[in-house]
Amino acid sequence: MNSIINIPEIFGSDVFNESVMKERLQPEIYNSWKDCIANGSPLELNVANEIAEAMKIWAIEKGATHYTHWFQPMTGITAEKHDSFISPAPDGQVLMEFSGKSLVRGEPDASSFPSGGLRATFEARGYTAWDPTAFAFVREGSLYIPTCFFSYTGAALDMKTPLLRSIDEVSRETVRILRLFGDTQTKRVIASVGAEQEYFLLPKDLYAQREDLRLTGRTLFGALPPKGQELEDHYFGTIRTRVVGFMQDLDEQLWRLGVLSKTKHNEAAPCQHELAPIYSDANSACDANQLTMQVMKKCAAKHNLVCLLHEKPFAGVNGSGKHNNWSLTTDSGRNLFSPGKTPSQNAQFLVFLAAFIKGIDEYQDFLRCTVASAGNDHRLGANEAPPAIVSIFLGDELTAVVESIVNGTNYTDPEKSLLRIGVDVLPSIPKDTTDRNRTSPLAFTGNKFEFRMLGSSQSIADTNVALNTIMAEELGQFADELENAEDFDAALQALVCRTLTEHQRIIFNGNGYSDEWKAEAQRRGLSNLNSTAKCLPSYISQKNIDLVTKHGIFNEAEFRARHEIHLESYCKNINIEALTSIDMVLHQILPAAMAYSKDLCDGILAKDQLGISCKAERSLAGRLSEIGDRLYQNCEKMRSNLSGIPANTEDAVAYYHDVIVSGMEALRTDADLLEQLTDKKYWPYPTYSDLLFY
Ligand code: ADP
Ligand code: MG
Repeated sequence: MNSIINIPEIFGSDVFNESVMKERLQPEIYNSWKDCIANGSPLELNVANEIAEAMKIWAIEKGATHYTHWFQPMTGITAEKHDSFISPAPDGQVLMEFSGKSLVRGEPDASSFPSGGLRATFEARGYTAWDPTAFAFVREGSLYIPTCFFSYTGAALDMKTPLLRSIDEVSRETVRILRLFGDTQTKRVIASVGAEQEYFLLPKDLYAQREDLRLTGRTLFGALPPKGQELEDHYFGTIRTRVVGFMQDLDEQLWRLGVLSKTKHNEAAPCQHELAPIYSDANSACDANQLTMQVMKKCAAKHNLVCLLHEKPFAGVNGSGKHNNWSLTTDSGRNLFSPGKTPSQNAQFLVFLAAFIKGIDEYQDFLRCTVASAGNDHRLGANEAPPAIVSIFLGDELTAVVESIVNGTNYTDPEKSLLRIGVDVLPSIPKDTTDRNRTSPLAFTGNKFEFRMLGSSQSIADTNVALNTIMAEELGQFADELENAEDFDAALQALVCRTLTEHQRIIFNGNGYSDEWKAEAQRRGLSNLNSTAKCLPSYISQKNIDLVTKHGIFNEAEFRARHEIHLESYCKNINIEALTSIDMVLHQILPAAMAYSKDLCDGILAKDQLGISCKAERSLAGRLSEIGDRLYQNCEKMRSNLSGIPANTEDAVAYYHDVIVSGMEALRTDADLLEQLTDKKYWPYPTYSDLLFY
């Protein structure tokens, strides 16, 4: 661990990446693969066979004995089933075999992955197919092959398939716009993503003593400690030695796997940290984020820590999110969200900006729904970053530009008349302007948009599907209009001006936490979907169905299946939390409080005989009993409420949200009161102080 590591040497050393392929494949095989990823042409079986053979030899050299098709089912995490390379040979020997067929296609027994009703039992099998645009890698003795997962009828059963479809769509429509600006070279545009990951680390032994953490990933109970994060002494603070060891190990493992882990620091809450990678194409970024989360969990265990990826492990301190930085980059590396230096570059930038603003305004609900989950409900709209209302922060400079276009007024420079798009140069828009608005859910940060509503445990796939598809739709509409224009400059000016005028309401640079903003947003007609239960009905609105089917991201059945899975997953999560709450109340919390109050009462009897005053004991015992009685009653009520869950899943979501979640809050209030009144030596599990300030 303390040995010096040579990062360039280890970086990607466990990945079957482009340079390994170039080195190990015949040139014509390598070129066929390149052609396949550049143009989407199919891989011939002989090519697949050659690649499989080279991959196998390389993987065995790296110590692999097995291979696995690694996929991302709609649970939002990844799945794998390992097959060894062995195949029987004469004389009781074995050969190490791996064919092109096994590389390209797999058939995991997948009947228990959620399908949202897409798979009838008679066709329960799912298939996996190699995604040749993502690199295979070796980890813990297995060759991991990134794959898509789909049903017998070809319906997407995973997160990767729609992501790949959306990546193609946004590329296609963006290239149309570039052509209008005279770019004849760009063949592909890459949706670029950098996902910052927040997480908590706790000592394993403390974690193990908390049933709620073990079963639900968050604390269902726990009185607030005397100290929270108010001193702000953790953010960017010195990192604990044990955590430093974990982080070094984590980085090394991620680098070996080709993950561009770049930044690490302490976050706002005690025990909270963040890892940020360098951005890459959206597909790789999504795979890398899944790997990061897995490696974090395993690596933590090695260091006697537990990594919590839940959105809200602790009440009263910050939750964890994921910042999804998103932009569009040409195949020659030009960032299309960089304000340019020439009038024409600026005009092009304004087209992309206008398309983004229009898209987010029109499809704010869709974007919001991609991050709806039971865990994320504790963050979005719950007095914590960011709010549930989708809006865009542009910063002062860019907002001034937008306003001058909309109002036809002078821009900041009083000498200058109306800003004419495509003729005038925009003022340079500095990166990191003003102090960046941390309360905004979607901020322009110089040359990219940072979407901050994602929950820490969620896959980034759905969000990027939404961003890509929305952008593809708007750019497509713009291209239709501009391609037919007689006077391009005039049409451009009219389009940008009209679009910004119509969709200006989504821009908001103020404090996103304030009540004034909630009222203002309502006046502007923006939606405020502050719970999963409120979100899910709008997920499958006709507008969203039209969008995703038009672009071939989902067919209607696939899209409805996702909705169904969202509903089911919400209900299951809340149900587990409710049952765990009851269990802890009856088996741990009440017994502890009762044992203490019994001892108090014994003491009172003894003191009474001696005529010694015992007001404190009496008062304490009285309060413990009163709160305990209420807690027990609410527990029974919860139990009976849980037996009345509506059969229809949509109704069930509303019921879980309205009845069960608030019932759990009531249990918590009393349980936390008991914790505060009970002698610590009776208390059955580590408290917030124990956990957060170990
Ligand atoms: P922060 O202050 O939020 O940490 P950074 O500039 O460090 O901002 O960037 C955060 C993330 O954004 C990193 O993952 C980084 O690689 C990514 N990023 C930077 N530029 C782009 C871009 N053009 N497109 C997408 N992601 C980007
Ligand atoms: Mg950030």
